[in-house]
Amino acid sequence: MKSHRQELWFNVPARRGFLNITPQVEEILAASGVQEGLVLVNAMHITASVFINDDESGLHHDYEVWLEKLAPHEPISQYRHNGAEDNADAHMKRQIMGREVVVAITQGRLDLGPWEQIFYGEFDGRRRKRVLVKIIGE
Ligand code: ZN
Repeated sequence: MKSHRQELWFNVPARRGFLNITPQVEEILAASGVQEGLVLVNAMHITASVFINDDESGLHHDYEVWLEKLAPHEPISQYRHNGAEDNADAHMKRQIMGREVVVAITQGRLDLGPWEQIFYGEFDGRRRKRVLVKIIGE
């Protein structure tokens, strides 16, 4: 069995943002040489997500509005997280959007469904954060 591990680094200039990281995952898959297997893609930070959905800007706006309703950033005083920390909402947004995805690899390609794309979701940005890509297979 082959295995391949690589990290992707991001520095989202705003507090929140969604990045389509499918091309980077495809590049890592090509470098791995794996034809049949699985790829795990996970955020390595507790205020960021990796998820799969549509690359459609209206939907991403809708996510932003929905997440702000579920866990508003302001007022920070509504949260007890670590006293002075201002990112309790980011932890909650991360929880609902998920930590990781697993995608099948078939004939050397990501075996995604129609319109499926892999995203990095940032909820407490303006600093360097990373995503782990781990590939196993033959
Ligand atoms: Zn925190």
